[in-house]
This record gives sequence, C-alpha cells and structure tokens, in this order.
Amino acid sequence: MAERLDAFMARANAAYYAASDPFADFTTAPEISQAFGEVLGAWVALVWQAMGRPAPVLVAEAGPGRGTLMADARRLWRRVMPDLAMAARLHFIETSPRLRAIQQQSHPDASWCARLEDVPPGPLLLLANEFLDALPIRQFVRRADGWREYHVADGARVELPAPPDFTAPADHPPGSVVEQATLAGDFVAALSRRLVTQGGVALILDYGPEASGPGDSLQALRGGRPADPFAEAGSADLTAHVDFAALAAIARAAGAVVHGPVPQGLFLARLGLAQRAERLAAAAGSLPRALAQLAGTRRLLEPDQMGRLFKVLALCQPGLPALEGFTD
Ligand code: SAH
Repeated sequence: MAERLDAFMARANAAYYAASDPFADFTTAPEISQAFGEVLGAWVALVWQAMGRPAPVLVAEAGPGRGTLMADARRLWRRVMPDLAMAARLHFIETSPRLRAIQQQSHPDASWCARLEDVPPGPLLLLANEFLDALPIRQFVRRADGWREYHVADGARVELPAPPDFTAPADHPPGSVVEQATLAGDFVAALSRRLVTQGGVALILDYGPEASGPGDSLQALRGGRPADPFAEAGSADLTAHVDFAALAAIARAAGAVVHGPVPQGLFLARLGLAQRAERLAAAAGSLPRALAQLAGTRRLLEPDQMGRLFKVLALCQPGLPALEGFTD
C-alpha cells in the first residue's frame, strides 16, 4: 500500500523522535553555543518590554529538543530581567515523550502540550528553532502528461496521479518538484491569528530559502550523514526546507505584522552574538574551551555555514515598535 509522503514523514519522524537521540544525528544552534539562547533570551526580553511587560506572560517553545535554548534564555532573564523570569509561564509544544522527559529535567515548572491550540489564552512569546522543518510535507512532480504526487511504498518512492484538487503552480518544466508544507502553513496561520487577537510575538528560526521555488528539499540524516529517506520509517531524521516567503504571506493574510526573513548570521550579529561569545571564551577557563566557544560562534555566523541558509522570521501583534535585529 502506497502511503502519501506527508503521512510517511509524520510516521517516520514520530518514531524517530520517540526512539532515538536526535542530537546524535545532527547539531542545532542551541547545542553549538550557549550564546545563541542568551541572545535570543535578550531579544525576547526587549520584546516583552515593548509589549508593556504583561504579567503573567505565556512563554512557549515549539519543539524544544533538549530544552537548552530555553535554559540559556531563562538564566539570562534571572540575571538581567528578573521580572520576566518571574512573569513567564512556560509551555512546551512537544510530541516526543522521550524529549519531554529530558526537557523536564531542566524545566520542572513547564507545562507540555502536543499542539499550539492547547496553549492557554493570553499574551504569548513563542520561539521555534528547527521545528517547522520537521513537519510533514507533500511533494508533486511534473511529468510530460501532468502532475503526480510522491508516495512511499516498500521503502521506495513511487508516483501516483495528483488528486483533482491539486492546483498546479505556474508552469514548470517536466521533472520539476514542488513542495507543499500544509502543516507548517496551518501552524503559522493559527499562531498569527492568536497573536493578532491576544497579543504577542513569535520568532521562527529555520533553514530554507527566502523566496519560494521548485525543488526537492527532503533530507534524511542518520549519524550525521545523509541517509535514504524512504528506508525503514524512524531510522533517520527527515526534514525539508522551510518556505519563508509562503509562511510570511500566510501570516500577513491573518493580520500579523511580519519582520524578515533575515539571514540568521546577520540577525545574530546585530544582537551581539560575537561579543557575547568573546566574553564566554575569556571566562572559559581553558584554551581548548575558549577556542571551541569561538569556533561555535563562527559556525552560527558564517555565511557558508549556518549564517545564510538559516533564516529568522518574526510574527507580531500589530502596533509594536521596530524590533531589534530586523533593521540596521
Ligand atoms: N529546537 C530544538 C530541537 C529541534 S529538533 C533545537 O534547536 O535543538 C525538532 C523538535 O521538534 C524536537 O523536539 C521534536 O521532538 C519536535 N517535534 C517534531 N515534530 C513535532 C510535532 N509534530 N509536534 C510537536 N513537536 C514536534
């Protein structure tokens, strides 16, 4: 029985995140340097001030992984903005029971839910780093006689005719692949509606191009190496590029104010990541640790590493002043 690609990807990633240690297979920005979570924490604190310091305030993270980003942000708040540390009510959107248990070790006071819709109402500050890239996508391929949709059967990719309700994008030459990230779009639409009606700001960081375009971006990683995405479900981490232009359009249609996307390296540089990392390196206690700190920062900032492919997008309630990191 052929399974549609998004259904296969949902099943594969649920199995993968439930059973494996994802961080043995890939490294995310918060795991590279604590300066990442600290500067994002500082950004959130500035936004909270711009919102008029609502208290209590819901602080949510979608797909928090090991909980490292939030631990680094909260440590910073306790030091420089204790009012926010006190006002924050922490909500983690996380489906993996295994990762929930790990998150609980550093955030015993958090609440967990499986969907954004289950976060209680109220002003919200939400972070999502490398969350949307893990959500299932559909893929369509143009053939000489029309569009087909990719499915998975017996560990291999197969094509079936695209359903009648598929509206093909502007014409593409045969062989072109287009992707639809329906779940990422639904998430951003629901999030934007909520920010507009109840207040708040969301910061989305992920990898993908600024402008939408055709192309097969499905990627599978196992042990840090590219793997066969269609082999046994759950044996590798499956992700796809995030279509930032499409998500920005969805958010604007829902009434949210959108900033970005800007390249992650530029955003982090504007927030002072390099200076923060230099201070951490100076206090590292040993030369190897100081050098590791600086190398990690370069990895986050450099255009040929994570500085350019990764983007940052902010979705906001209307009426806030310009946000740090999005203007010169
Ligand atoms: N933000 C973390 C982890 C990124 S990995 C970091 O930067 O290190 C992706 C995260 O999203 C994991 O925590 C995974 O369990 C979670 N996740 C994946 N699909 C999800 C879904 N459909 N709903 C909720 N969480 C999901």
